[in-house]
Amino acid sequence: MADSDKQQLLRHLPKVDALLRAPELVAAQQRLGQKTMTRLAREAIARARRRALEEGVAPEPEAVVAAVQAAADALLGQRARRVINATGVILHTNLGRAPLSAAAVQALAASAGGYTSVELDLERGRRGARGAFAEAALAQMSGAEDALVVNNCAAAVLLALSAVARGKKVVVSRGEQVEIGGSFRVPEVLDRSGAEMVEVGTTNRTRTADYARALDQHPGEIAALLRVHPSNFRQIGFTERPPLDELAALARARDVVLIQDLGGGALVDLSPLGLDEPMVQTGVSAGAHLVCFSCDKLLGGPQGGAIVGDHALVNRVRRDPLARALRLGRLPLVALEATMAHYLEGDRDAVPTMFALHRPVAEVQARVEGWAEQLRAHGVAATTAEMAGRAGGGTLPESPVPSYALVFDGDVEAMAHTLRTGTPPVLPRIHDGRLYVDGRTVMPDEDEALLKRLREI
Ligand SMILES: *Cc1c(COP(=O)(O)O)cnc(C)c1O
Repeated sequence: MADSDKQQLLRHLPKVDALLRAPELVAAQQRLGQKTMTRLAREAIARARRRALEEGVAPEPEAVVAAVQAAADALLGQRARRVINATGVILHTNLGRAPLSAAAVQALAASAGGYTSVELDLERGRRGARGAFAEAALAQMSGAEDALVVNNCAAAVLLALSAVARGKKVVVSRGEQVEIGGSFRVPEVLDRSGAEMVEVGTTNRTRTADYARALDQHPGEIAALLRVHPSNFRQIGFTERPPLDELAALARARDVVLIQDLGGGALVDLSPLGLDEPMVQTGVSAGAHLVCFSCDKLLGGPQGGAIVGDHALVNRVRRDPLARALRLGRLPLVALEATMAHYLEGDRDAVPTMFALHRPVAEVQARVEGWAEQLRAHGVAATTAEMAGRAGGGTLPESPVPSYALVFDGDVEAMAHTLRTGTPPVLPRIHDGRLYVDGRTVMPDEDEALLKRLREI
């Protein structure tokens, strides 16, 4: 193309100022601000320019305006929003894991807009211990002497290792050197803590004698044994790992610390539901010195991590310089304390995660059939089916939880897109070319909003 033709072509492209004056973009500019909108406009013009040169025709100015608007909408759409979880995965990592209880939400609402006595002893009018109630409740529920709360379980493990084993060695089974979603890799976390890993056993079989041999081979150099719940990784067949109490006995006899990375944080026995999830209490009673777990997995609270165990060791962890960097924020702390109050009061079903897990499948079925009936009354063909939901949350990803769902056939990808992108967004599950809307994970107050959205497909 001759230079003059090029110039002629590019002259048709809108300028940034003119573009941003388009009435269609006024609303987006109010929400995103001038600087961001200018950047989006420049990017859209640059794209239009490239296309014009490639194709020999300049896009209409309206098309460039539409492109800026689409980019602005996409950016605004990235804000985290409340969504309806119809996937059947109770602890969905991409959806923020555990929903909070009504009491926790109230506590948050009451605290968030004002000041909160997070580190003040109101009785004495002096500085108080941060998280003292949450920690007392966690210690009591787990049967441990003491507890510490931090930002999440990854932080709990990092901090425990740093406080106990920095500059020393830590023994880990080759069968437990796992990666848990979101790039939490046991060997890498261990390395970051300043400890050095000593590997024992094989991928599938590790015995207490393997740990004992490592202790013999590195006299005085080993500070801890690390036991990791493999979480979203299962081994079957010819496998072996030592019972926790045997490992704890070895650690105590050899004067090293047994740290258990439990992940899930179940305070309730889930075996009646057929779920094979170790409880926090079991780790403590088996003799682990420090047990680390998430507060937003099976405990059902906000994002957070807990370290429970022997008082002297928990205190050592509390005083580690990293503790300040990894501490729990004010708002999750308030929500965690409200969640722990349910456990202290023995009100298991007040915790939404526990309620969802324990809801009898017949109740879920009745709810879903009620939905189907209401949809049919509005002329929407809906059938229902049993399905296997999942506990999720990185600890029980494969464990099925019997559930019930609405089932839709047709262009399921298009339907799922419609559901995801409306208000409120609905996240269904697609399986074998059909679209499922699970009745177990939809929150009790979301029926009406869900049905309104489903009428759109
Ligand atoms: C989930 C998990 C973690 C990470 O927990 P976060 O609270 O997400 O940081 C660490 N260890 C184990 C064994 C887990 O299952």
